[in-house]
Amino acid sequence: MDCGHQYPTDQIIYTCSVCGGLLDVQHDLDTLRTSISRATFDERLGTLERPYNSGVWRYKELVYPDVADDLIVSRPEGNTNLYDSPRLAAWVGVQKLYLKHEGENPTGSFKDRGMTGGVTQARVLGINRVACASTGNTSASLAAYAAWAGLDGIVFFQNKQIALGKLAQAIAYGATGIQVNADFDRNLELVREVAEKLGIYVLNSINPFRLEGQKTIMIETIQQLRWRVPDWIVVPGGNLGNSSAFGKALYELKALGLIDRLPRLAIIQADGANPLYRSYQNGLKSLEPVHAETIATAIKIGNPVNYRKAVRALHWTGGVVEEVSDQEIMDAKAQIDRTGIGCEPASACSVVGVRKLVEKGVIGRNETVVGILTGHVLKDADAVINYHSNQLDGIEAHYPNHLHQSEATVAALSEILAVREPN
Ligand SMILES: *Cc1c(COP(=O)(O)O)cnc(C)c1O
Ligand SMILES: [Zn+2]
Repeated sequence: MDCGHQYPTDQIIYTCSVCGGLLDVQHDLDTLRTSISRATFDERLGTLERPYNSGVWRYKELVYPDVADDLIVSRPEGNTNLYDSPRLAAWVGVQKLYLKHEGENPTGSFKDRGMTGGVTQARVLGINRVACASTGNTSASLAAYAAWAGLDGIVFFQNKQIALGKLAQAIAYGATGIQVNADFDRNLELVREVAEKLGIYVLNSINPFRLEGQKTIMIETIQQLRWRVPDWIVVPGGNLGNSSAFGKALYELKALGLIDRLPRLAIIQADGANPLYRSYQNGLKSLEPVHAETIATAIKIGNPVNYRKAVRALHWTGGVVEEVSDQEIMDAKAQIDRTGIGCEPASACSVVGVRKLVEKGVIGRNETVVGILTGHVLKDADAVINYHSNQLDGIEAHYPNHLHQSEATVAALSEILAVREPN
C-alpha cells in the first residue's frame, strides 16, 4: 500500500519485501464496474448453493474473484442480523441505531469472515499448517476453520486474561495451543518469526486475505439497509484489521458506484489500550505503542499492526477516534445484554462510543448509526457473572442483575418474586 510494488496472489508474503509496508489485495475495479451491480448480490440472497450461501462469498467478486470454488473453506459465515434497537438508540441518544451482530458467526465473532478468506488462501498456496497469535477470537476461528479444512491449526495465546470461552473453543476444535509467556504484541512478532522459519502460514490480520473477508461486514450491512448508506459506522479498534477492512470496503463500493456516498467511521478504543486514540489527538502523524490493559481482552493491543490502513480508512471516511473506560464498556454491555441480544465486552465499545460522541456533539441526534457488535455474549462469561455480582476490580455495576438464592419452598420463592422489581 505504500510503495506500489505488486506481487502475485500465489506468493507467500505478508509485508512488502521492498519497503516493509502492509499489503493490500488489489481488485480490478474498472472491470468490476461493468460486470457487477447491486442486483448481482441481491439475486443471491437466500440461496442455498455454496459458496454464495455465505455472507462473505455472496460478494465473491469483491473478495477473491478468481479463486476456484472447490478451494473455498466456508462454514458458511456471515448472514448476521442487523438489529434495529429503539431502546439502545434512546440510551445513546440517537433516533436510529442499528446493531450488526457479528457475534452470530459460526464461532461467535467476526473473525470467521476473515478466516474463511485466510484459510482459503492457505489452500490456494498448498500450505497445511496455519498459525496465529491471538487475544482469543482469532484462535477460536482459526482452530475451527483449520479443522473444517483438514489443516493443522496452531495458536499462540498470551500469558494472562484469555476469555475462557475462546480458549475452550481453540482446544475443542483441536488446534495446537501454546500459552506463551508474553503479551499479544510480542506474540505476534514471535508467530511471524516462527512461521517463517517452519513454513507455516500466518493468519493474523496482517494477512491481507483476511481483511478481504472482513470487508463483507460493511457490504452486507449496506445491502441489509437496501443499499442506503448510514451516516456513521462505529466499531471497536484493537489491531485495527476491521477498521481497515471497513475503509477499503467503503472505498471500493463507492468507486464501483454501488453506493453514492461514504458513511463516517468512528473507531472506539479502550482507554487502557488506546494507541490510535493518542495518535488521533496528535493529528495521526505517528503511532506510539502503549502497554495495553483493559477488561475488553479482544482489544487489549498496544501496537496495532494495521495502523497505517486504519489511518487511510479515517482519511477516506472523515472518520473519528474515541476512547472509553472499562467502566463505560461494562455498563454499556449490561445495557446491550439486557435487550436480549448480548455481546462480549469489546463489542460494547461500539454502543458506548456512540453515546459519548453524541454527548460531544460529533454524532447528531437525528443521524443514522450502525454499531458493530464484534463478539458473542458467551465468549466471556466470567465478565458477565463478575459484573452482575459486583466483583470486578475498579468497576461498579450500575445495571446489576443479582442472582437470588432460595430455599426450596413456595413460600420462600414467593417472597423473592413479590419484591422483585423490574429493572
Ligand atoms: C478481534 C476483535 C476486535 C478487534 O478487532 P481488530 O480488527 O483487531 O481491531 C474487537 N472485538 C472482538 C470481539 C474481536 O474478536
Ligand atoms: Zn512496498
